[in-house]
Amino acid sequence: MTLLVGILMMLVAAAFVAAPFFRDAGDLTLNGVTSRDQLQHQKQEAYAAIKEAEFDHRMGKLSDADFAMLREKYTARAVAAMAALEAQNAQQRQASVGKPPASVAFCPTCGRRVPPRANFCPACGSSLKGVGMKNGKQKVTYRPV
Ligand SMILES: [Zn+2]
Repeated sequence: MTLLVGILMMLVAAAFVAAPFFRDAGDLTLNGVTSRDQLQHQKQEAYAAIKEAEFDHRMGKLSDADFAMLREKYTARAVAAMAALEAQNAQQRQASVGKPPASVAFCPTCGRRVPPRANFCPACGSSLKGVGMKNGKQKVTYRPV
């Protein structure tokens, strides 16, 4: 019985030691930087909040001014999370390929640079939906860097 317990404890200890090697590298927090999971979560929460605000606005529960304020706030949050994610992606690409990204997106309204696949422009807040969709309107123009 004691031997069995000893073997079990050794197995638990071995699993504990080996666990980090089996984890997805993307989950790891590097140098205290916010983890990708946290950033994804922050982005999704911000999108959900924007959708909710849009809904409330349509229902007449939010004034134009309140809606604009909320949308700006959550757009900034989503954009910050996306920028951080993109920075991490870029770092990983740089590390693995050693080349910068092939293209950059620009806002059709104000012409500012926007994060790839962004739904809203961080500068003017206009919607960039439909970006990269084959049958949708391509609102954002991609140019070589
Ligand atoms: Zn813009």
